[in-house]
Amino acid sequence: KKYIVVTGGVLSGIGKGIVSASIGRILKDCGINITSLKIDPYLNVDAGTMNPNQHGEVFVTDDGYEADLDLGHYERFLGIDMKRYNNITAGQIFKSIIEKEREGKYLGATVQMVPHVTEEIKNKIKYIDTDLLMIEIGGTVGDIEGEIFLEAVRELSLEEGIETFFFIHVTFVPYLNVTNEFKTKPTQQSVQLLRKIGIHPNMLIIRTEKSIDSNSLDKIALFAGVNRKYVINLPDAENVYEVPEKLFNIGIQTIIAEKLNLEISNHLNWNY
Ligand code: ADP
Repeated sequence: KKYIVVTGGVLSGIGKGIVSASIGRILKDCGINITSLKIDPYLNVDAGTMNPNQHGEVFVTDDGYEADLDLGHYERFLGIDMKRYNNITAGQIFKSIIEKEREGKYLGATVQMVPHVTEEIKNKIKYIDTDLLMIEIGGTVGDIEGEIFLEAVRELSLEEGIETFFFIHVTFVPYLNVTNEFKTKPTQQSVQLLRKIGIHPNMLIIRTEKSIDSNSLDKIALFAGVNRKYVINLPDAENVYEVPEKLFNIGIQTIIAEKLNLEISNHLNWNY
């Protein structure tokens, strides 16, 4: 089993969900058996009780689970029916831990974030049966709630073999009109935060309002320690359904397939 892990930096709502769903779609069209897992670090057990004005639509899955709206992106982009197991929240993890503790299942051990909570998260991730699992970690790197999930994924990457993991960090680079330049510092800092946790991103997807100059991308690659070929700009699209084609034209499928040692079909039927 191989994994792609998508994290976000600098701001929330920069399009991690769209990027993950788009990459998933491309790889699915390349003949890979893929599904997705959205991790929501909030303490709600599911999105059913959350205010849609604040949080967006509640997406109800085939098996009646009230999920985050990103599962809707996955279902529409991937053409796969999403199920309850395609979404986990911190609320579910803690609920399950506390129930097990009350049942005496920890046999007197002191129940801790590491290893018990991380173990629970890793088991949920391992439970999903697929060749390639696309894991999107909600929120922004540096959020206190998200830390335990990043730790669990880091541990899993060591247990399963780092060569089976591809880490993509999606960040935002703002443009300052007054000085007429793109500002890369927040992105540099967010990659530093990730590295402090022990995750070294393989690829950076740089979201901008307008196309960024190549000098700024060189600078980001240098500071982040990411191969320049793997630093990709994704300016705002008119329509989110353009994103898969843009990423496909950049050749993201070849880069990922090379790194993860995936066999992709060369007879891709691209019909968007
Ligand atoms: P995140 O997962 O980072 O919270 P989403 O993927 O849910 O972000 O995207 C947030 C919003 O931004 C969505 O409403 C989506 O329509 C829009 N969006 C995402 N990516 C792009 C893009 N490349 N171009 C234009 N709009 C986008």
